[in-house]
Amino acid sequence: LEIDKSIALIERLEKERSLSLKEYQYLVENLNEEVFDYISKKARIIGDENYGKDVYLRGLIEISNICKNDCYYCGIRHSNRNCDRYRLTEEEILECADEGYRLGYRTFVMQGGEDGKFEPDYICSIVKKIKEKYKDVAVTLSLGEYEKEDYQKMFDAGADRYLLRHETADKEHYEKLHPKSMSFEHRMNCLKALKDIGFQVGCGFMVGSPYQSSFTLAKDLKFIEEFGPQMCGIGPFIPHHDTAFKDEKSGSIQMTLFLIAILRIMRPNMLIPATTSLSTLDNLGREKGILAGANVVMPNLSPLKTRKKYELYDGKVCTGDEAAHCIGCITNRIKNIGYGVAKVRGDYKCLNTM
Ligand code: SAM
Repeated sequence: LEIDKSIALIERLEKERSLSLKEYQYLVENLNEEVFDYISKKARIIGDENYGKDVYLRGLIEISNICKNDCYYCGIRHSNRNCDRYRLTEEEILECADEGYRLGYRTFVMQGGEDGKFEPDYICSIVKKIKEKYKDVAVTLSLGEYEKEDYQKMFDAGADRYLLRHETADKEHYEKLHPKSMSFEHRMNCLKALKDIGFQVGCGFMVGSPYQSSFTLAKDLKFIEEFGPQMCGIGPFIPHHDTAFKDEKSGSIQMTLFLIAILRIMRPNMLIPATTSLSTLDNLGREKGILAGANVVMPNLSPLKTRKKYELYDGKVCTGDEAAHCIGCITNRIKNIGYGVAKVRGDYKCLNTM
C-alpha cells in the first residue's frame, strides 16, 4: 500500500510538478528499494529528455578557505584553529582558469569561504579578466552572502551564475546549524536578490545534517518547488573532526539519490550536480548521482598545493590529483555509464512551459 501511494505521488509530481508539504514528507518517510528503483528510472528518463546523454562540466576553483562565519558543520569555519588558511592571488586564480580552458572547461566556479579580502570590486576585476580573455565561458560564483548592490556589481562584471545553498528551509533548523550571528532571513533574501538581478541561481542543502527531519526535508523540497532555482546542489553531510558535529553520523547516500530523483522530476530542466561529497562517501557516488537524475559534475581545478586545505569535511576525495587527472578520471567514469561530458558552457535550458 505504501508503495502504491508513493508511486501515485511520484506520478502526480511528474504531471503537476508540485506536491503538498505533507506529501513530500510522506515520500521521504516511505523510501524503500522498490520506490527508489521506480523513481530513479523515471528521473533518468526525464533527464535524458531534457539534456540527452550530456553531463556538464564545471571547473571548481577553491579561492580561499578564510571565513568569517562559524557554521557548526564546516571544516573551514572561523573558529577552527587547526585549519591552515590560504587565499589564492588573482594571478593564481587566472592560472587555474587558463589551465581549465586548455583542458576543455567552459564554466569556472569560484568558490570560497567568506573572506573579507574578497571585496566585490576585487571579485569583479577577476571575473572581468576571465570573461574578456575567454568569450565562450560562463563564470559561476559561490562566495556566500553579500548585499544586493554587491551582487549587482558582480553580475554587471559578467558573472553568469551564483550558487548559494540555503542549507535548510526551516528557520529553527537553520539556527541549530549556525551561530546567532548568522541569519536565516538574510540568506533567503540573498537568494531572492540574486534571482531578481538575473543570475542563474543555485540553492541546495546537505542531506542528513544534524537535526534534519522528514519535515525539514519536505520544507526544502517545497521551497525549491516555489523558488524555482536554475540549479540545486545537494550532497550528504559528512562530519569534520574539528567541528562541534564531529561525532554525528554522515548523511545517507540512498536518501541523497532519492532526493536528486525527486528534484529531477519536479524541475525537469534544473542543473543538478553529482557532488564531491557523494563521491567521498561512495566510490561510485558520482555515477550513482548521474543515474538518479543529476547532470553536472564539478571536478577540482584548484592548485595542488592548496587542495587539502579546503577541507570542508573528513576524507574529501580528489585532494591529491592534478587537474588534468581529475577531468580524465571523471570523463571515463561518465563514459562507463553511457553518458558523455560535454565541453560547453552548459547553461540552464529554459522550457517554454515554465
Ligand atoms: N561560503 C560559501 C557559502 O557559504 O555559500 C561557499 C562555500 S561553503 C564551504 C560550500 C558548501 O559546503 C556549503 O553550502 C555546505 O552546504 C557545504 N558543506 C560545508 N560543510 C560540509 C560538511 N561537513 N559536509 C557536507 N557539506 C558541507
